[in-house]
Order: sequence, then C-alpha cells, then structure tokens
Amino acid sequence: MASQLQVKTYLAYWFQLGKKVLLPKDGGELSPKSVIRGDRYSQEFEDCWQKIIAHQGKDYYLEGTHQTIEQLLTPAWTITSCARCNMPVPTIELGIQSVDCPCSDLPEWPNSEIPQPRSPINTVGHLSKIQARLQKDKV
Ligand SMILES: [Zn+2]
Repeated sequence: MASQLQVKTYLAYWFQLGKKVLLPKDGGELSPKSVIRGDRYSQEFEDCWQKIIAHQGKDYYLEGTHQTIEQLLTPAWTITSCARCNMPVPTIELGIQSVDCPCSDLPEWPNSEIPQPRSPINTVGHLSKIQARLQKDKV
C-alpha cells in the first residue's frame, strides 16, 4: 500500500516536470509553480496536497494516469520507480508492472541536462556528511 508520504513524494516529483493534478468532475486542476523551497516543500505545494488529502484523493488524477489518488492510497497500489526514467510510478501490488508511467507522454524525458526532480531532504548530501565524519573518526 502506498503511504500518504509516498503519494505526496510521487506528486511532488511529477509537479516538478510540469504535470498537473486534475479533478475532472468539476474541471479543476492543480499545478503549483514551485514545489521545493530550500530544504522543504513550498507552501503552494503543501496547499495543493492539503486540498487533495482533504478529500482522500477522491476523483483527483495525476495528468496522464488512470488511477485516482484515492486508489493509490488503497492496499492494491504501491509506488515504485519507472524502469525507463526512475521516476516514482504507481504499480499494482500483485507484481504486475504498470505500463503507463506518466513519463510516457514526455518525449524529452528522461533528460539528464535539466535539474532532476527531487525531495526536499537531501539524502545524498546527508549521507556523505556521515561518511566524512566516520572517516575522520578512523584517522
Ligand atoms: Zn518513466
């Protein structure tokens, strides 16, 4: 089952590539201009997320996908990485690989020339700091 945190990260990544979250029922769409601010999510993104989660994701879709956010939060779904571009994609928990990563309609993607979507917490930087500290201790 995809946790709220996984789904939030999933949306944050795709928002950074310009995808929108659609609410077809009333023609609404969410597309925060900024997602990351410093080492955290932007207020604009947090507001979008609150709006989605206030309805448990019911009837909200990431543009280019068929699963509602509500479905992703059920035990049938989990979030894994796309085999082509490494972006988070919804997968059915029963081991059937999803064929439709939202990247399938982004012809320019994957693209290593542009800044890669990320989470606000810099895990790599954090790890290398720990490594440096460990090495210092050894000397
Ligand atoms: Zn992909």
